[in-house]
Amino acid sequence: MSTNPARRNAIESIASQPRLQSTFDFRNEKIDLIYGQNVFSLEKMEKRLPKDIFKALKNCIESGAKLDSAAADVVASAIKDWALECGATHYAHVFHPLTGSTAEKHDTFFEPHGTGTLAQFSGKALIQAEPDASSFPNGGLRSTFEARGYTAWDVTSPAYIFDGENGSTLCIPTAFVSWKGEALDKKTPLLRSMHALNKAAHRVLELFGKKAGFISASCGPEQEYFLIDSRLFYLRPDLYTCGRSLFGAKPAKGQEFEDQYFGTIPDRVLACMMETERECFKLGIPIKTRHNEVAPAQFEVAPIFESANVAHDHQMLTMTLLKRVAAKHGFVCLLAEKPFAGVNGSGKHVNWSLGGAGVGNLLEPGSAPHENAQFLTFCSAVIRAVDLHQGLLRASVASAGNDHRLGANEAPPAIISIYLGDMLNEVIEQVKKSGSASSSRKGGTMTLGVDTLPVLPKDAGDRNRTSPFAFTGNKFEFRAVGSSFSVAGPLTVLNTIMADSLDKLADDLSAEIKAEKGNFNAALQTVLKNILTKHGRIIFNGNGYSEEWHKEAAKRGLKNLRTTPDALPEIVAKSTIEVFERQNVLSKEELVSREEIYTHSYVLTINTESKLVSDIGRTLLLPAALKYAADLTPVADSKSGGKLRKEVISLAEDLAASLDSLDKLRGESKDDSHGNARHACDKILPAMLKVRAAADALEEVVSDEYWPLPSYQELLFLR
Ligand code: ADP
Ligand code: MG
Repeated sequence: MSTNPARRNAIESIASQPRLQSTFDFRNEKIDLIYGQNVFSLEKMEKRLPKDIFKALKNCIESGAKLDSAAADVVASAIKDWALECGATHYAHVFHPLTGSTAEKHDTFFEPHGTGTLAQFSGKALIQAEPDASSFPNGGLRSTFEARGYTAWDVTSPAYIFDGENGSTLCIPTAFVSWKGEALDKKTPLLRSMHALNKAAHRVLELFGKKAGFISASCGPEQEYFLIDSRLFYLRPDLYTCGRSLFGAKPAKGQEFEDQYFGTIPDRVLACMMETERECFKLGIPIKTRHNEVAPAQFEVAPIFESANVAHDHQMLTMTLLKRVAAKHGFVCLLAEKPFAGVNGSGKHVNWSLGGAGVGNLLEPGSAPHENAQFLTFCSAVIRAVDLHQGLLRASVASAGNDHRLGANEAPPAIISIYLGDMLNEVIEQVKKSGSASSSRKGGTMTLGVDTLPVLPKDAGDRNRTSPFAFTGNKFEFRAVGSSFSVAGPLTVLNTIMADSLDKLADDLSAEIKAEKGNFNAALQTVLKNILTKHGRIIFNGNGYSEEWHKEAAKRGLKNLRTTPDALPEIVAKSTIEVFERQNVLSKEELVSREEIYTHSYVLTINTESKLVSDIGRTLLLPAALKYAADLTPVADSKSGGKLRKEVISLAEDLAASLDSLDKLRGESKDDSHGNARHACDKILPAMLKVRAAADALEEVVSDEYWPLPSYQELLFLR
């Protein structure tokens, strides 16, 4: 046990904590009744709305069309009645500004009326609100004098009730736009990209002679996170300010025993997980999986996939709930990508596919030949999209936090490539060679669409964990996304580049069908062969962590954008602007504003962290070291005392000198945000690491009694 008084108190408190009295027990509950209880679902709408209004609303939900104001009044009144019955006193438009977080402004239903009050909620209040938008980042899209921003109900995502400690709020999922209609949030482009994808997918399906309903992108995000005891957390200013530790010597026991992954979930953690899941169930979030992750104190939660826009809203809510419920259980939930150096970081695997009524999952290999031709077509479109926009995909996962994780031998490298698995890869190789594929199982030569393609295994076999973008049987898994990210950014990029790829494929295929005088199969073979020959370089089935891959990728001309300042300019690259404008997802101005905001946020993050490194170094660690050295003076004559004192003083000098260098660098501001980003990346981050190295060395020699920060050991293993 630590002999430092503050740490000792925290540890004693943890050791003697009584068991949390749970307010519920799943064994005594009917999950059926809890599930979706707080959601204004289609079912509830149907029960509470006049038939014609329900039909109109359902149509809006399915097609994303606008609800007229007369209908909106009726819907609002029904939602209000339901919300009041559930005990809600307030309503809020919830939106997702470019900070990557969730924003909401609450109003009460109740207004004075005579001697009492009246609950009010108009169609207008449901459909649109005008939060003062001046304090949200807009990257030059608005000046403050025209700071109006509007939130508009996203009818495709249901309204829900969020239960607080002592009251409930009706929440309305919205998109956030400027008065000119420019997207100020992450939701608007996501919705636009879903429409683009639907349109383009239909073009291709029509050529296959298929009729389908709305083709929707789907997403199943796997969320990794840490749970740390709050008593220790609050002794670490780095953790509570930045969400990641800026100091900390390597613990005696880290994750090398490999006894964490899928290990038994500790009781206190399990109780916290169950309560989080219960809150998720109430909101209709289909949480499916929970388990221990690789690092000590690291866990994962994953839902069943849903349509991408709903999955997005649910993912944002899941992050909110993880943090809230953790606090109730005396934990802090860390969503940062790399809270602890030398310990596994956290990602958010974004599983992505597309499909719809009548055609099912378009990235699922079928058993019949024509289904496989269709599957290979959509698969080829993905390959083309990812190859053409590898830099943009990298940029969609770029942040100061994720830079510490990507390429750190536990997460995919910054080089974007696609893993297909041996079987699918073999098929692709053959299509590339001849436009036809032969089954490795049956041996015969096959032609796309007419003869039989090899039956592709649903399970892609050995899952390659080192690939940033892996085919996993019926979907692609984008693994480079950071744990704290909104999935909206990566999903918007995937949908948009896929839509564009499908459009191009439809163009080429139509032209080729004409050239082949209507021979569809021959035309398809030519088109797929061309795509795979041109873009096959993005496929890599080997070890993404290896040095050889870095060399090989360079040979293939693949981008290796190691850091955020390297990656963000891809957002305004010519190829990005073209594809986003062509697909009507984001205009050049909207893209420019995003690049600016993300660059600024990167600089801000590193500046804050570096200031904190200085503060902690100067006011906590250096004084601790010097005090210890002073207290060693009486024993300086002894051999061990003298040696120790010398060592402490020497390391303290290192610490002081590195702090001086860091402060000097922080003072050197550049002219523009890109200059500042480079400076932060190339100069400030390395200087922070120097301070850390000196401090971590001190942590290993200074008496425990003097060291103010809880150790990695304590943070990761005490609960
Ligand atoms: P893991 O990657 O940990 O092995 P799974 O492969 O079982 O886990 O699934 C991971 C996630 O992929 C889950 O959230 C699941 O819902 C999601 N998923 C499955 N099918 C699809 C799909 N068609 N589209 C999007 N996500 C999907
Ligand atoms: Mg996964």
